[in-house]
Amino acid sequence: MFELDAQHIRMGQQAADKDSALALLGEALVADGLVAPGYIDGLRAREAQGSTYLGQGIAIPHGTPQTRDHVFTTGVRIMQFPDGVSWGEGQTAYLAIAIAAKSDEHLRILQLLTRALGEKSLDEAIRRAESAEAIVQLLHGAPQELELDDQLVRLHVEADDLEDLAWEGARLLKKTQCVEAGFAGALQTGVPLPLGEGLWWLHSDHAVSRPGLAFVTPATPLTLEGQPVKGLFCLASLGEAHRDLLERLCDLLIAGRAQELSQATSSRAVLEALGGEVAPDWPSASVVLANAHGLHARPAKELARVAKASTGEVRVRVDGGTAVSAKSLSRLLALGARRGQVLEFLAEPGTDAEALLGDLVAAVEAGLGEEVEPISANTQPTHAAVPVETNILARAEDTAPLASGDTFKAIAAAPGLAVGPAYVVAQQHFDFPAEGEGAAAETERLEAALAAVRTEIDALISRSEAGAIRDIFLTHLEMLDDPDLREGVQTRLKRNASAAAAWNAQIEEAAAQQESLKDALLAERAADLRDVGRRVLGHLCGVGSASEPSEPYVLVMDEVGPGDVARLDRDRVAGILTARGGASSHSAIVSRALGIPAIVGAGPRVLNLAPQTILLLDGDHGFVEVGPDAARIEQVRVEREVREHRRQEAEAKRFEPAVTRDGHRIEVAANLGNTADAPAVVEQGAEAVGLLRTELVFMSHDSAPDEQAQEKDYRRVLDALDGRPLVVRTLDVGGDKPLPYMPIPAEENPFLGIRGIRLTLRCPEVLETQLRALLRAAEGRPLRIMFPMVGRVEEWRQARDILNRLRQEIPAVNLQVGIMIEVPSAALLAPVLAQEVDFFSVGTNDLTQYALAIDRGHPLLSGEADGLHPSVLRLIDMTVQAAHAHGKWVGVCGELAADPLAVPLLMGLGVDELSVSARSIPLVKARVRELDFVAAQACAQRALALATADEVRASVEAMQ
Ligand code: PEP
Ligand code: MG
Repeated sequence: MFELDAQHIRMGQQAADKDSALALLGEALVADGLVAPGYIDGLRAREAQGSTYLGQGIAIPHGTPQTRDHVFTTGVRIMQFPDGVSWGEGQTAYLAIAIAAKSDEHLRILQLLTRALGEKSLDEAIRRAESAEAIVQLLHGAPQELELDDQLVRLHVEADDLEDLAWEGARLLKKTQCVEAGFAGALQTGVPLPLGEGLWWLHSDHAVSRPGLAFVTPATPLTLEGQPVKGLFCLASLGEAHRDLLERLCDLLIAGRAQELSQATSSRAVLEALGGEVAPDWPSASVVLANAHGLHARPAKELARVAKASTGEVRVRVDGGTAVSAKSLSRLLALGARRGQVLEFLAEPGTDAEALLGDLVAAVEAGLGEEVEPISANTQPTHAAVPVETNILARAEDTAPLASGDTFKAIAAAPGLAVGPAYVVAQQHFDFPAEGEGAAAETERLEAALAAVRTEIDALISRSEAGAIRDIFLTHLEMLDDPDLREGVQTRLKRNASAAAAWNAQIEEAAAQQESLKDALLAERAADLRDVGRRVLGHLCGVGSASEPSEPYVLVMDEVGPGDVARLDRDRVAGILTARGGASSHSAIVSRALGIPAIVGAGPRVLNLAPQTILLLDGDHGFVEVGPDAARIEQVRVEREVREHRRQEAEAKRFEPAVTRDGHRIEVAANLGNTADAPAVVEQGAEAVGLLRTELVFMSHDSAPDEQAQEKDYRRVLDALDGRPLVVRTLDVGGDKPLPYMPIPAEENPFLGIRGIRLTLRCPEVLETQLRALLRAAEGRPLRIMFPMVGRVEEWRQARDILNRLRQEIPAVNLQVGIMIEVPSAALLAPVLAQEVDFFSVGTNDLTQYALAIDRGHPLLSGEADGLHPSVLRLIDMTVQAAHAHGKWVGVCGELAADPLAVPLLMGLGVDELSVSARSIPLVKARVRELDFVAAQACAQRALALATADEVRASVEAMQ
């Protein structure tokens, strides 16, 4: 949700040029955890496509669709540049509003800014503003017009008394976003003021965001204190905005024209009498907006330019809403028009505007300066089945249909086995005509679809055991019968829209309004509205939506967001399979948290699985089987029982060492990020901490922890380990790990940039403070210090020399010093490095990323970054051989160390220690105990000669 908040405004910034300003803004977004560093490239790429300068000294840099995946949280960060920054095309920006948005949410901020972009000149005021609060004031505080249009007039409302009318007025004001929660209550506490002739007045300035006036009349005559109640004005009052209207109203009453209001039969008559926004009966022309991101700043600017060619008035409205001047950029932006919506242009009769209608339509069809994928004249596609980027990048096998007997592999995201029918929850593609066959026929169609959906939802309610889920569906039922929704649809049907077009437009409008509410809970209702909307559209367009299976099912989605969690009934969802996402994606995190087996990043074809297709997921290995037979399903059931039994047994023996059947022992250690968890890892059977990720320790502090604070943290771990070794990695930030108080300048390729040791060698004081704290905390206990991301021997030597200098100051007796093997060059140079270090620890997450040149978090490719690829195994082999030749030890601390198929291979290659997450310790130990070292060595040698990761995995399976 976008808010203009003083806290997010940095005053008095300076930037030599636009590029430096973008870097500053991008860093602020990164530092505040809104985006990943790659988003900064998106800001630049977007400017390269066209300036984001908006007007009035304000620019709104934002990313490209390709960089949306870098957005963690929606929000804005604002900087004031009092000296101005040249934003291209001769424009100077004094205020830059950097937007982090996952979708078209930036249209919202444009709507928020529309008042600031009104007539009054703001740039000087922004430039001279001395506080963040003053900026907020300027952006919010520009003169506001009183809202009064046909959405704020409701005639013949069923009401028992004036109180009912007041509720209705407040509801209309809320719906049009003039007021927020709390207004209705405040309005009711006011004393109604009789205006005469049965008209009454109530007002409140509580919880008002925009001034607005609603007018409501009762269906049957009412009285209050013996006086008739024929109509009620409800004013959401803000400043002086209502003064003109009040004067007009008084004139009207004095002129004895009150019945024009009290007896009005149309909202148009009310608006004409009061001088509100009336949709004019002017010559018009309509066109569907095809711009991918709606009518945002660039196309809106172009549209205003075309409209200004006429001297007559030109107005435009969206899907039959209020018409605004097409020459006003701010008004156009305030429309918030999205792709697929109909723009209707209205030209002032008898002026040159009429001749311009064709030009306006042509300009919109041509994309208003953007390349657009046209929408055919008769149809309005709504949501694409799969995001365009995915379609372009998908390989043929990712889209080929799946059939019974197919097996495929994707990213293992949450462990466990699951079997069940597929329940595909995909955004369907709806094609429907914009125009219908008359209101009566279309109403009939709509009623039939609504009835069918009601029956479907009733069935879901009776099947849902969880109360929370039942409540969601009950709300959906209510939404189907919402009188406002129905009324809006009827209005559109009367304007000759088809049932599907009217329904779709009304749902979209309602959902967009809901999303813009400041109350997060209410805003979430937008997703429910769209859910219901799609169900009805499915019936109207003959696109069958899968019905929820009655037995526990495998939920198949494009991507499971945290917001979907509420819908997941753990008793009903056996497993999760998603088209997109990597191991660190939302889907993966959500499913691990819920303990539901999950496989992610399986490609778009899973969205085309026929409903009810039985799926078998192996969440440990990322394998999916389509249509397994009864025997296989039974086998899985038995295997699940065996696994559960195995886990219990492993836990019972977690304090025993990991020794193979033929007597080879391997150390099993824990990876740790939070010092407070140290006692818990010992309790899980850890024999050491094999990797303390100190960047996570740093992240738990608001600012860089000083030596004392760090010493306390490290001491805490050493105390808990009670004599067990502690391997500490020095600060490893950069790449995908930002540290808010250590901003790293934007880089083209952060994973190949200043990260790990490359960063700390550039900030030696940070490294020295950390090393001092470690040396002081050790006090003779077994401490091992290692440096991350070493790629060159010089880096290791430089870091070692710093440590050696400090050791003279703070002697340490039981200390070993090593490096992480994460960069292929370090593995290749292991014979040299092994002579100088005490140990190596292989970080397979990064080593795999760099060896295979696949971004470890890539949404489409990371599934192919398998640490068991023979190239990675060869690098590990080189490392172990070199280390052992010089009497040094090797650990593995990447995720691979916990993979049951990797354990025999790593052990067979001679790895001495496996460091894994605490919950994997008992299972890894149990896995070692069932192996023969000699057989594991042979298996590892065979694997080194293989060609692919799949062959390696198959060969380990064959060994068991
Ligand atoms: C690794 O790269 O394997 C590793 C353990 O480091 P991190 O995952 O913290 O980058
Ligand atoms: Mg790493």
